Amino acid sequence: MNVYDSSRIADMLQNLGYEEAASVNQADLVIFNTCHIREKAAEKVFSDLGRLYNLKQERLAQTGQDMIIGLAGCVVQAEDEQIAKRAPYVDFATGPLTYYRIPELLAKIERQRGISLIDTDFPAIDKFDYLPDNHAHGGCSYLAIQEGCNNFCTYCVVPYTRGAEFSRPVEAVIAEAKRLVADGTLEINLLGQNVNSYHGEDAAGHERDLAYLLRRLSEIDGLERLRYTTSYPADVNEDLIACHRDLPKLMPYLHLPVQSGSDRILKAMNRRHNRDDYMRIIDKLKDANPNIGLSSDFIVGFPGETDQDFQATLDMVNYVKYIQAFSFKYSRRPGTPAAVYENQVEEKVKKERLEILQNLLFSYQLRFNKDSIGKTMPVLFDMKGRHKGQLIGRTPYMQNLHAELGKEYLNKIVSVKITEANTNSLSGIAEGL
Ligand code: SF4
Repeated sequence: MNVYDSSRIADMLQNLGYEEAASVNQADLVIFNTCHIREKAAEKVFSDLGRLYNLKQERLAQTGQDMIIGLAGCVVQAEDEQIAKRAPYVDFATGPLTYYRIPELLAKIERQRGISLIDTDFPAIDKFDYLPDNHAHGGCSYLAIQEGCNNFCTYCVVPYTRGAEFSRPVEAVIAEAKRLVADGTLEINLLGQNVNSYHGEDAAGHERDLAYLLRRLSEIDGLERLRYTTSYPADVNEDLIACHRDLPKLMPYLHLPVQSGSDRILKAMNRRHNRDDYMRIIDKLKDANPNIGLSSDFIVGFPGETDQDFQATLDMVNYVKYIQAFSFKYSRRPGTPAAVYENQVEEKVKKERLEILQNLLFSYQLRFNKDSIGKTMPVLFDMKGRHKGQLIGRTPYMQNLHAELGKEYLNKIVSVKITEANTNSLSGIAEGL
C-alpha cells in the first residue's frame, strides 16, 4: 500500500510540474512516505530526517537553494507530537488519508515559508476522488480498492493510522482498471489493508464483495493477470474461493496471513479465526485450485507465547508448506493493547524462535523454487536486470525470475523454461520467440 501511495504522490507532484531529481542532493522537495508497523521502521524515519536536514543545510550554504522536507504516511498519523518535537524542521506532514492535500500544503508553504504544517485528520470524504488518475508505470499496476481496517488485532497500528474500513465503488474501480489496461498494464494487484472485506456499491446501489469485483475485472479485454492483497482469513467467503477455481486470470498465489498457529495466541491477538478455521480455508482453496501457492505473515514472540504455542506455528508451516512468507519478531507499538501486556517475551527467545521459523520457511520456499526447474511458466517482465540484455520478471507465483532478453520484452508476458533456482530467485530461458 505504501508503494502505491508513493506512486500516487509522485503522480500528483508531476501534475504540479515537479520532475524526479537525479539524486537527493539535487532535490528541491523530498517527501518521506513512512511506515509505522514496526518500531525499527518508525525510528529509522527520525534518523533519516536528521541526515536529510544536515544535507539541506549544506545545500543552502553552498548553493543558496532551499529544500522542502515533507513527511507522509502512518508515522505522521501515530506520532504527530513526536514529529513536532524531534524534527521541527519538517515543512509539512500528512497522514495516509490526507496526502491528496499535498498540493495545497505545498502552496501554503510557498506562501508562508518556515511554518510547519501537520495534517492528519480522518477526512469525511473519499481521498480517491481527489487524487489524479492512477497511470500505469509498467506492465504491473496497483489499484487500491479498500482502505482501513476494523479488526483491531491487538498488535497492529493500522486501524489507528489508516482509520475505519472504506471501499471504493465498483464502477470507479472498473473504470480505473480499464484506464490502466489502456495505458499498458497487463497485471493488476488489487490493494487493501483488508482487501477481502471489500464491500463497494455497484451502480444500482447494491453492496458487492471482492468475488463480484474479481469476476467483473476478469472480463476486461487486455487484462491478463489479477491478484489481490492483503486478505484476512475470516473474510474469505465461498464465492472468493470459487474465483480461484473459475477465473484463469486470477493468479494461483494467495497471501493469507495467519500470524500464529496457536489458538491461545490467535485469541490474544484478537484475530477472528482459529487454527482450524484457517486450515479449513486452506483445504478449500487447494480443492478449488490444486496448483495454488500460499504465503503468510508470522509474528513470533507475541506476549505470552510459550514453546508449545511456537511449536503450533511450526506445525502450521509444515501443514501448509508456504511457498513464501514474511516473518517478524513481535514489536511493541505504542497505543496498541498488546504493547502493555505484562507477559512480554524476552528478546533472546524471540530471536531464537525467528531463526528457527525462518529456516523452516526458507526450506519450503527453496523446495518450491527447485521444483520449478524444468517447468515452463508465463513470466511478466517489468524491470531491467543488473546486466545489459537481462530482464527481471515475476512468475504467476510471485517468484523473481532473471532471463537474457532484450528490452523490447519489457512489460510483456513471455514463456520461460526455468533452468536454475535458489531461495529468492529463478533463472530461465525464454521460449518460442
Ligand atoms: S487485520 Fe491486518 S490491518 Fe487489520 S488490525 Fe489486523 S493486522 Fe492490522
